[in-house]
Amino acid sequence: MSGTIHQFDAIVVGGGGAGLYAALALSQNKVPTAVLSKLYPTRSHTGAAQGGIGAALGNKEEDHAEWHMFDTVKGSDYLADQDAVEIMCQEAVETVYELEHLGLPFNRTPEGKIDQRRFGGHTKEHGKAPVQRACFAADRTGHMILQTLYQQCIKNEVKFFDEFHVIDLIVQDKVCRGVVAYAVQTGELHLFHAKSVLFATGGSGRMFKITSNAHALTGDGMAIALRNGIPLEDMEFFQFHPTGIYKMGILLSEACRGEGGIIRNNNGERFMERYAPTIKDLAPRDIVSRCIYLEVRDGRGIGGKDYVHLDLTHLGKEVIEKKLPDISDFVRTYMGIDPVKDLIPIQPTAHYAMGGIPTNFNSEVVVDENGTALKGFYAAGECACVSVHGANRLGTNSLVDILVFGRRAGLSMANYCKETEFSPLPSNSEEPSRALLNQFKSGSERIAPLRSDLQSFMMDLCGVFRTEKLLKEALTKVKTLKERSTNLTISDKSQVFNSELLDAVELLNLIDLAWVTVESALARTESRGAHYREDYPKRNDAQWLKHTLASLSNDSVKLSYKPVKITKFQPQERKY
Ligand SMILES: Cc1cc2nc3c(=O)[nH]c(=O)nc-3n(C[C@H](O)[C@H](O)[C@H](O)COP(=O)(O)OP(=O)(O)OC[C@H]3O[C@@H](n4cnc5c(N)ncnc54)[C@H](O)[C@@H]3O)c2cc1C
Repeated sequence: MSGTIHQFDAIVVGGGGAGLYAALALSQNKVPTAVLSKLYPTRSHTGAAQGGIGAALGNKEEDHAEWHMFDTVKGSDYLADQDAVEIMCQEAVETVYELEHLGLPFNRTPEGKIDQRRFGGHTKEHGKAPVQRACFAADRTGHMILQTLYQQCIKNEVKFFDEFHVIDLIVQDKVCRGVVAYAVQTGELHLFHAKSVLFATGGSGRMFKITSNAHALTGDGMAIALRNGIPLEDMEFFQFHPTGIYKMGILLSEACRGEGGIIRNNNGERFMERYAPTIKDLAPRDIVSRCIYLEVRDGRGIGGKDYVHLDLTHLGKEVIEKKLPDISDFVRTYMGIDPVKDLIPIQPTAHYAMGGIPTNFNSEVVVDENGTALKGFYAAGECACVSVHGANRLGTNSLVDILVFGRRAGLSMANYCKETEFSPLPSNSEEPSRALLNQFKSGSERIAPLRSDLQSFMMDLCGVFRTEKLLKEALTKVKTLKERSTNLTISDKSQVFNSELLDAVELLNLIDLAWVTVESALARTESRGAHYREDYPKRNDAQWLKHTLASLSNDSVKLSYKPVKITKFQPQERKY
C-alpha cells in the first residue's frame, strides 16, 4: 500500500442523491470537484427509493409549504429543528422543478403537470385529512433521481473515483484537510488533499437483522466522524418501516398505502382504524410499526405468527401494474404470490437513521452544543442530522432532505473554497488507516458470526420496543463485541478486490454506531417518535425536548444535549 496523493478543492464522499447534487452545484460554480464512492454511483441506495419526493406543488389539490412544515414537525414528535424544516419545505418546491428541468421523467397528471399522491403523515390544513404531496416516477423515483443527477455531473465534468472506500478523515488544528481512501481495485491507499470535504455516505440500517437497507449501508461516514472526535446526534432514533416483506425486510413502499392499500390482522380487520381514526393506514411509520407489534402481541398476527397482511387486492390490476410495478415484481419474485389477488405478508423493517453527523442548515458539520462549525467539513443526506426529521421521519422527506441539503452543501463549499487556501497535509496522514487495515492480519474472530450477533441483538433489544432491562443487556453485548472485534481476522490476504477486508472495516463501523445508539437510547427515559420505551411510555417535554450528542472518547461514550429550535409550532399531543 503506497500513498498516492490527489488534490481537489472539493471532495464529495458518496455518489447518492446528496453527494451528486452537491457535486453538481460545485461543478456549476467551477470548483474542481471529485466524488469518491465505494459503489458505482448509480448503485447507491438512493436508487432504491420507490415512493416519491414530497413537495407542496399543489398540482392535484390545494397545498402549502407551511402545511408540509407542520406535518414534518408533528411527524418528528416535535424534535426537529423548525428553522431547518422551514427551509426544507420551502426549497422542496424549487428543487422538484429543478429536477424536472434537469430531465427527470416524473409521472404526469392529464393536464401535463407533475403527478402527486398521498403518503403517511402528509395532510392538509394541519392534520384535517391526507393530502397528495408526493411527486413520483412510478415506484422508481430514486432511480430516476440518481440517473438524472449522474448524467448532469458527467456533463459538468465532475471527476469520479468509483470503488474508492474512504477509511479516514484528515483533520488537524480544527481544519479538515482531506480524506484517506482505499482503492478497491488495487488495494492501495490514496490521499485526497482538499479545501473542503462533504460526507454524503448514507445510512446504517445494516446494524439490524431485518432491514430494507442495501448491504453497503454500514454507516461509514458517521463512524469515521465519531472516531475523529465529532459527536453524533440523536442516534437513539432509528425508524422501522411497517411494510417490509416478511422475514426478508425488503421494502414495499408506503406508496402502496398512498395508493389505497390497507393493513389487516388475522381477523381481516383494518386495525389502524382503531389506532389512528383520522388518517388510518397513512399514520406515520413509527405509529404503524408499533401497532403491528401490538396486534401480533395480542395474538392477532396471521396464524398467531409475527406478521400481518398488506392488502392491495381492491386497487385493481391497472393501478397495481402502472403505479407500483417494481413492488409487484418484488412480491412475485420473492414471495411467489400475486399482489392483484393475494394478501402480502409483512413485518416492520429497520429503515432509516434519523440521527447522524450534526450539521447546521448550510450543511457545515457542528461539533458541540454551541453549534461551532469544523472548518472545511460538511455532511448531508442520511448520514447527517440537520435535524429535519427529529424523532421520526415522514415518508418522501428523505429525498427532499438529501437534495435540498445536498445542494446547500455544494453551494456553501463553493463559497468556502473560493475564499480559502489549501491547508497543508499533515505528514503520515495515512498511518491510522494503514494501522486499521493491517490489524486483521492476525487474530482469531471471524466476521460473519460477530455481525450476525450484532444484528440479532440490536433487532431484539434495541428495536421497536425498548426497556431499561433490554437496553442494559444490549449494552453488555455491544461492549463484549467491541472487545472481540479487536481480535478480528480475515482469510483473504490479497490486494485486489478484497471485499473481506472491507467487510471487516464496515463491521467495526457498525459496532461503534450500535454502541452510541444503545447508550443514547438507555439515557432517554421517555418515548418519542421511533424511540419507544415501554418503561417510560409518555413523551416528557419538560425533561427531554432536547437533542442527544454522543461522543466516543477513551473507549467510553459521553452524552451531552442541545436545545431543539422551535419557531412556529409549539409541541402538542400527537394524535392522528
Ligand atoms: C428501499 C428504500 C426505499 C426508500 N424510498 C424512499 C422514498 O420513496 N422517499 C424518500 O424520501 N426516501 C426513501 N428512502 C430513503 C432514502 O432513499 C435514503 O435515505 C436516501 O436515498 C439516502 O441518500 P444519500 O445520498 O444520503 O445516501 P445513499 O444514496 O445511500 O448513498 C451513499 C453513498 O455513499 C457512498 N459511501 C458510503 N460509505 C462510503 C465509504 N466508506 N467510502 C466511499 N463511499 C462511501 C456509497 O457508495 C454511496 O454512493 C428509501 C430507502 C430505502 C432503503
